[in-house]
Amino acid sequence: MRIEESRKDFPITNDLIYLDSAATSLTPIQVVNEMNDYDLRYRANIGRGVHRLSVVATERYKNAHDKIKTFIGGDGGTLAVTKNTTEAIGMVAGGIRWESGDRVVATVLEHHSNFLPWLRLREYGVKIDIVRPDSDGYLNPDSFESVISDKTRLAAITHASNVLGNITPVKEIADICHQHDALLLVDGAQSVPHIPVDVSDIGCDYFSFSGHKMLGPTGTGGLWMRRPDLKPLHIGGGSIESATAENFTAASGEEKYEAGTPPVGGTIGLGRAVDYLNDIGMDTIRRHEERLTGRIIDGLSAIDHVKIVGPYFDERRIGVVSFVMDGMHPHEVAHILDEASAIMVRSGEHCCMPLMQHLGLESGTVRVSTYLYNNPEEVDMLTATIEEISRKVS
Ligand code: PMP
Repeated sequence: MRIEESRKDFPITNDLIYLDSAATSLTPIQVVNEMNDYDLRYRANIGRGVHRLSVVATERYKNAHDKIKTFIGGDGGTLAVTKNTTEAIGMVAGGIRWESGDRVVATVLEHHSNFLPWLRLREYGVKIDIVRPDSDGYLNPDSFESVISDKTRLAAITHASNVLGNITPVKEIADICHQHDALLLVDGAQSVPHIPVDVSDIGCDYFSFSGHKMLGPTGTGGLWMRRPDLKPLHIGGGSIESATAENFTAASGEEKYEAGTPPVGGTIGLGRAVDYLNDIGMDTIRRHEERLTGRIIDGLSAIDHVKIVGPYFDERRIGVVSFVMDGMHPHEVAHILDEASAIMVRSGEHCCMPLMQHLGLESGTVRVSTYLYNNPEEVDMLTATIEEISRKVS
C-alpha cells in the first residue's frame, strides 16, 4: 500500500489534525475490524480449551504473538505481551533479584516509566547513576563509559526521546554494557512505531514497547527478553507446567510471563497493526516522517518568539519536535492550536520531569509528533497557526 493512501483508513483525520502520536497513535479500520472479528465471530479464551472456538482463538493469538516478535527482530528471544511499556519495564525492575550495592545506569532523558522504577530500587540498597545528554539532547556513549562499572547490574535507556526526538546510540551502549557484564534494557516506546528495529542487532537484553503507539489497541505492549530469566511478577492460570497441593513448576518461555487471560482480541489487533506497518514498510514510514519533521523544523524555526528544544534536523531523530514560545505557557499554545485550527498537540512535561529540570523548562514544552497518516498540508497549517499566535505575542 502507498503511504498517501493510508489516510482514508484513519477516519479521525477527516475531522482534525492529529499531531499527538507520541502519546498514542490513531488506529486504522483494519485493526478495529480484526478485533471486532474476534469478539463477534470466535471469542473464546485461549490455552487449554478443546472446543473449536478456543482452538481458533488460540491459533490466532499465537500467530499474532509470533508476528509481533518477528517485527522487532526478536525471533531468537522471548516476548511477553504486556499492557504497555510501563508494565514491561516494571517486569524487569521487579523480576531481577537485586542485591544491595548493585548499580543501575539511567539517563536524564528517560520517561518516568523508565526512571522511577529504578529510583524505587533504592529501598533494596541499589544505587542509580545518571547520565546527562549534551545541549542538543544527544547521549554520548563516552559518558556511559565513565559511569558504568563492574557494579552496574543494568542500564536502562530510551531508544528515542519522547520529548526531544533524538535517537540514542543503543548499539554502542550495548557493547559498553556487555564489556562490564551489565544488562541493557532499551525502552522502545518511541522507536518501534517509527523506525525499523532489530533487537538482536542492537544487542540488548530487554526491550519494551507499547502497542497503542504503533497503530494497535490501547492495553497492549510487550517485553522482549534475550533470555527468560526474570522472576515473573504474577503466577496463576496459564503460567505453570504443573501444580500439586505442595508445589508447582513454572511454564517455560513466554507463558511464564503471561499469567491469567491476556488481551486476546488486543493482541490479535496488534498483530494486524504489524501487518499494516509491514504493508507500507518501515523504511517508507521513516522517510515520510523525516520529510515531515524537516518541514516542521524549517517552518517553526523561522517564526519569531519560537524556540525549538532539542536537535535541529538530523537523521538521528524521529518525528517528535518540542518547542516553547516567549511569554506563553505551553498549555495555552496547545489550547489555541485546538481552538483555532483543530490541531491536537501535547503540552507540559511529557512525564519527563527530570529532563525538564535539566533543561530549565519547568512549564514544559509544546510537543508535535507525526506518523504515517500526517501530510505536508497539516504541517503547513500548524506553522501558519503558530505564526498567527506569534504575531499576537509581539
Ligand atoms: N517510554 C517512553 C519513551 C514513552 O514515550 C512512553 C509513553 N509516552 C512510555 C515509556 C510509557 O508508555 P505507556 O504509557 O504505554 O506505558
